[in-house]
Amino acid sequence: MAKINGKTKLLGVIGHPVAHSRSPAMHNAAIAQLHRNIVYLPFPLAPEDLAAGIEGLAALGVVGFSVTIPHKQTIIPLLQEITPIAQQIGAVNTVWRVDQAWHGTNTDAAGFMAPLQALDWDWSSVAPVVLGNGGACRAVVAGCAELGCPEIHVVGRDAERVARFHASWQTTALGNYLQVYTWDALPRLIPQTRLLINTTPIGMEPQTEDSPVPVELLATLPPGAIAYDLIYTPRPSRFLQLAQSQGMMIIDGSEMLVQQGAIALTRWLGEPAPVEAMRQALLESL
Ligand code: NAP
Repeated sequence: MAKINGKTKLLGVIGHPVAHSRSPAMHNAAIAQLHRNIVYLPFPLAPEDLAAGIEGLAALGVVGFSVTIPHKQTIIPLLQEITPIAQQIGAVNTVWRVDQAWHGTNTDAAGFMAPLQALDWDWSSVAPVVLGNGGACRAVVAGCAELGCPEIHVVGRDAERVARFHASWQTTALGNYLQVYTWDALPRLIPQTRLLINTTPIGMEPQTEDSPVPVELLATLPPGAIAYDLIYTPRPSRFLQLAQSQGMMIIDGSEMLVQQGAIALTRWLGEPAPVEAMRQALLESL
């Protein structure tokens, strides 16, 4: 941890609750490695205090902050500028100060893509199937488009909600890119995809015995397919354990978390974030 003095600069994360966040451990480990006089703090902020909170952070000279649940969407009208990717996803997870103004972006899509980009795959022949239609799914859709996947199939449990999700993309460049389904389409979709992504919280602690898809269905994935779970507690989730038992490649959500944080920190610090220090700190905190 940096030695705090009168010149120490502030970064942090706003959320409600924020006590469970792994971000302070990751970011402070990276800052210590770079010997920068900065600390990254948790800032618990209730929804009704969001506007006042953002003003307060500006008044205190905070350099930038991460945004987590439940503020990722509601913060947008309080920012002076957001990037096209944040606009497309409809959520902001990283904010920084430019000339008396707050600017925001979303680094979740890039974080999601990072472990896939590390593989030598031709993404133009992969049509991913995504389970869930919530906030994280939006970053996954944008990430898959950026990777070059030709189309994406999003599967939700509620026909009305998944239809609303579909409609929400119609004003973006990805309007024709995604198709939506309800859960009963999975036996048809799963044998046709080489990338199956779980963005639901099914299997997250404390429900660690649950899987969004039973082993019989995972067995119908094509050989060598990837099962990717955004969950990182537990690691691996039941979904990934079952997929691995069927010979599939697995990716858990820890690398996405590290990479989205590293991209944010690089922006705040103006120098490359030490990714390995962040990865080690995260894995130790899990
Ligand atoms: P969210 O906005 O609440 O969305 C959750 C989605 O899962 C919703 O579409 C919901 O369906 C669906 N769902 C929930 N329970 C279900 C069930 N029993 N059966 C079928 N579908 C169900 O949450 P989120 O922010 O997208 O986060 C989702 C997960 O991703 C969490 O586990 C979170 O920790 C993880 N995550 C990881 C990272 C990372 O960096 N690794 C980043 C972000 C999120 P309805 O719409 O029908 O309610």
